Amino acid sequence: MYYVGIDVGGMSLKAGLIDENGNIVKKMSVKTVPGRKGELIVGDLATLIKDIIKEAGIDEKEVGGVGMGFPGSVWDEKGIVRYCCNIDFVNIPMVKLLKENGINYPIYISNDANCAVLGEAYFGAAKGAKNVVLITLGTGLGTGIIVDGRLLTGNKSAGSECGHMQINIGGAICGCGKKGHYEAYASATALLRQAKDACEKHPESMLNEEFKKKGYEGYVIFECAKAGDETAKKVVAKYIKYIGMGAVSLCNIFFPEYFLVGGGIANNSEIIAPLQRYISRNIYGSKYNPKIKVLAAKHLNDAGIIGAACLAIHGSSAL
Ligand SMILES: [Zn+2]
Repeated sequence: MYYVGIDVGGMSLKAGLIDENGNIVKKMSVKTVPGRKGELIVGDLATLIKDIIKEAGIDEKEVGGVGMGFPGSVWDEKGIVRYCCNIDFVNIPMVKLLKENGINYPIYISNDANCAVLGEAYFGAAKGAKNVVLITLGTGLGTGIIVDGRLLTGNKSAGSECGHMQINIGGAICGCGKKGHYEAYASATALLRQAKDACEKHPESMLNEEFKKKGYEGYVIFECAKAGDETAKKVVAKYIKYIGMGAVSLCNIFFPEYFLVGGGIANNSEIIAPLQRYISRNIYGSKYNPKIKVLAAKHLNDAGIIGAACLAIHGSSAL
C-alpha cells in the first residue's frame, strides 16, 4: 500500500507518496499565491493529490489513504479546518470539499505537529515507541503527543497545544497574544528576543558583533556560544532551562519513552545533551523511574509529508 501525505503551508503545498516502510516514492509541490481564496486552494489540493498518484504510476487501488497536516486548528474527526496560519481557511469542511472535488480515498486531517509526532513514532527517532512527546521549535512552539499508541488531541481535537501552557504569570507576550505562555520563552523566536536583550546589556560581546555582521539568526547564537562568548553561553544556558521547564512538566504528565525536539535549531548539539541532563535531573522520581530519552527529531525537510502520510496509516490502525 501507498499513502499520500500533504504538508499545507502559507508558501507552498507539498505532497509526498510514501510506501508502508516510510520511503518517499515521489514528491511534488506547488506554490501558494498570497491572498488566494480558500476554496481555490482546496481545488489546488485536490489537483495535487490526483497528480502525484498519476505521475508515480501507481494503481489507485494501491493507495490506502490521504493524510494532511495544517499549521492551525483542525477538528480531526469532522474533517474541518477551523483556522490556518497565513491561509484563508476559516471553518472549511476540508474532507467534504475534497470528496466533492473527486478525491475518493479515505482522508485524514490534523494539526502539523500531531502529524510530525506520528512520523517520528512510525519511521523516525521514536520508531516503535507507544508514548512520545514532540515539541517543534520555530516561529511558535508546536506539540504532538502519543499516549499508549494513540494520538492525543482532546475534545474536538482542540487540545495538545502545549506551547500555550502558562508558565509565568504576567510574563512575556506569546504569539497568540496572551502572556506568560511556554512558546513565549522556548520558541526559536523567543531565543532571538532573549539574545537581542542580552546584547543590549552587553554591546561589547562577540554575540553583538556577529549579529551586526551576519544578521539576527539563531545559528549565530550557537556559533558564538561554541566559540566561548560568555553572553551567548548565558543566553543558551537560560534558553535550555526555558525549554526544560515546559519539557519536565510534559514528561511528568505523560512519562514518554522519548521526548523529541524538532525544528531547525534542534540539531545543535548545544540543545539536546543539556536538555537531556536537565530533564533527567528534574523529572519526578528520577532515581527510580525509567529514563526518558531526549533526541532531535529525525525527519527534517520531509517531516511534513511523512508525518501527514502517517496520519493516514494511523487512521486505519493504531501504533
Ligand atoms: Zn500562547
